[in-house]
Order: sequence, then C-alpha cells, then structure tokens
Amino acid sequence: MFQAESKNYLIRALDSLNINHKEINILALELFYSNLIDWNKNINLTRITEEKDFLIKHVIDSLTILKAFDNNKLENLKIIDIGTGPGFPSLPFWIFFPNNKITLLDSVKKKLSFIENTIIKLNKLDNFYNLENIEIVHSRAEDLAHNINYREKFDLSLNRAVASLNILIELNLPFLKTSSFMLAMKSDKIEDEIKSSNNSLNKIGGKIEKIINFNLFGTDIKRNIILIKKIKKTLKTYPRKTFLIKEKPL
Ligand code: SAM
Repeated sequence: MFQAESKNYLIRALDSLNINHKEINILALELFYSNLIDWNKNINLTRITEEKDFLIKHVIDSLTILKAFDNNKLENLKIIDIGTGPGFPSLPFWIFFPNNKITLLDSVKKKLSFIENTIIKLNKLDNFYNLENIEIVHSRAEDLAHNINYREKFDLSLNRAVASLNILIELNLPFLKTSSFMLAMKSDKIEDEIKSSNNSLNKIGGKIEKIINFNLFGTDIKRNIILIKKIKKTLKTYPRKTFLIKEKPL
C-alpha cells in the first residue's frame, strides 16, 4: 500500500488533471509499483524507485498526456506506445482508461516480459483490466511500421524519452491514420529540436498542432508535450533502415 503522504499527493495530482479515479485504479498502481521494484532487482528497468518519485516522475508524468486533449477525451482509441520500456507512458494511462486498445512496443524483450507479467497480475486483480485491450510487441519501430497490420492503423502514438523529435517523426507517423496525432513527451529545452524537425515534418507529412509546457504537479520539474498531426499518407520509403535513420537523420 502507498504511504498516506504519497497517496494524498497522487489524489491531488489526479484531481488537477481532472482524472476520475476509483479504489481499483489505486490498487492497480500499487501492484504496478511493487512489481516494478521486484523486477528491478534483477533487470535494469528504472532508476526511479522511491515511492513518491515513482508517482511524480512516472505515474503523473505519464498521465500528463491528457493535457494535450480537450476534456480528457481519450476513449476507445487504438494507441501505440513506441519505446515503452517498462510501460511509460501508456501503462499508467491504461490503468485509468482501460477501454483504449494499447500496443506497447520496444526492441528490448526483457522490459516487455515485465509488462506482460504486470498485465497478467492486473487482470487477476479485477476483470476491469481486460487482457484483450493490450498487445505487447517486440520489434524495432522502423521494422514494425512496414508491417501492413500496423501501418497507418493507429489513432494516436505516444513516446517518452525515446529519440530526438526529427527521428520520432519518421518512426511514428507511418503507424498513424491520416489526421491522427503523435505525442512526444519532452523535458525542458526543446527549441533546437523543434527547429531541427522541419525537414522531417515536410518529408514525412506532419504539422505541429500544439506545444504545451507545464510543471509536474506540486514540483518545479519542467515538461513539454509536443502534439503533431499527420497530414498525408506516408511514402512507402519511410521509415528507412535503422542505420540511415541514425546516420542521416532527416
Ligand atoms: N518510454 C520509457 C520511459 O519513458 O521510461 C522508456 C524510455 S527508454 C530511455 C527508451 C526505450 O526506447 C528503450 O526501452 C529502448 O529499447 C526503446 N527504443 C529505442 N529506439 C527504439 C526503436 N527504434 N524501436 C523500438 N524501441 C526503441
């Protein structure tokens, strides 16, 4: 169980994001946290292990994706979390909004094994957490984006701490239906990344819809969310092979 002070912070932070919550959501977060700490003893999943830090820097940070959308309208969507690691930002989001269908993608299998184990435990906790709404995929984004079952199939893509914005645009937009959005979670300084992403936006077909800057609730930790709209179908040549993306970023 979370300590009273941590739980109090969590509830005030959820209120600040207009997220309705029930006891089951808090129980699910407690399960996620204890499983993360357990698995972290054997595989390196996170450096953030203290309970309140976990709530601020992993849970509340992940849930700030809601700031990009009016009235928390993120229901019944098909969402892909690219480079999810141990499940951020999509797993905290799904704990509160489990009727969205989430694909969690990463190129490192052991991180995905942790997610799979956590999801099975969540499902046992309550039928509220339906396994059918979660898909875990072990692949590189640049490979999976050429698979017809994933290409141009998603309503929203999420990324936290995965790559620079110009690279993210090439990795994300191919997964999205036209007029859908990719969301990049960034820390403080983003001006240079924004300037360097023009070529990628033009070539892949995206437009910056909005940039939201804020502090994480109750802290002076600065964050930025960049929301990009896909404005045209992606050419078959994108995304390119891994070495080209790395050595000749757009
Ligand atoms: N998003 C998580 C978070 O915020 O805690 C993990 C961030 S971690 C710094 C970056 C993750 O992205 C790693 O787990 C890495 O394996 C994954 N990753 C990086 N490039 C990738 C790619 N091209 N395709 C799939 N996963 C990728």
